[in-house]
Amino acid sequence: MAYKFVDNYREQGARKKLVNLLKEERKIEDTNLLDAIGKVPRHYFFDETFWSQSYRDIAFPIGEGQTISQPYTVAYQTQLLHVSEGDKVLEIGTGSGYQTCVLLELGASVYTIERQEKLYHRAKLFLSKMGYHPNFFLGDGSKGIPEHAPYDKILVTAGAPFVPEIMLKQLRIGGTLVIPVGDEKSQKMITIIRVNENDYERIELDTFRFVPLVGDQAW
Ligand code: SAM
Repeated sequence: MAYKFVDNYREQGARKKLVNLLKEERKIEDTNLLDAIGKVPRHYFFDETFWSQSYRDIAFPIGEGQTISQPYTVAYQTQLLHVSEGDKVLEIGTGSGYQTCVLLELGASVYTIERQEKLYHRAKLFLSKMGYHPNFFLGDGSKGIPEHAPYDKILVTAGAPFVPEIMLKQLRIGGTLVIPVGDEKSQKMITIIRVNENDYERIELDTFRFVPLVGDQAW
């Protein structure tokens, strides 16, 4: 795919409109998050032929049968994480790397893992060209990344059949996991807060449709 890094008035205007839509129609309230979304040039993740689609509130194919998530989904999940400056965030499912950039703009230190080799290499190269520097990993994120635990926040960007126990153990006390859980057709967004060593608080929220989380602790 040929990428072009040009951010002119047309794309900047479309980005502002998207932020406004997320705020006014989609009721995203976190102003730091809206600012972060306003800073990441989403059209850079698209071939120039598709720039007109890049600020629509839709998911879009990125190859390997995967998608760059719909902006509303990115905003909804990220808002649930309540990212603070300096938080150590594990993102499972790098995909295009767009949401990784939003997390970095919020001041998080990001560990991101992708199981598809082509997407991993593309995101790694591409984000560094854009000046974004998370810690990239290639592999099965359904087991988390125990070597770098604990995390303040864990974000799963693919639909899981259940909440992997091994992931919960990698949360810091007080930390939050956001994970869509369900069948192949639809998943409930679930937030889990680690209250203490053994106790977790679980909240079930809205329904979404994600690509599947594939791996040892997944489909
Ligand atoms: N939020 C991302 C973005 O902005 O582009 C989109 C993520 S996409 C919906 C989900 C990603 O999770 C896909 O790239 C898929 O390959 C990846 N994935 C699925 N199972 C995984 C696993 N076990 N470990 C790591 N990544 C996985």
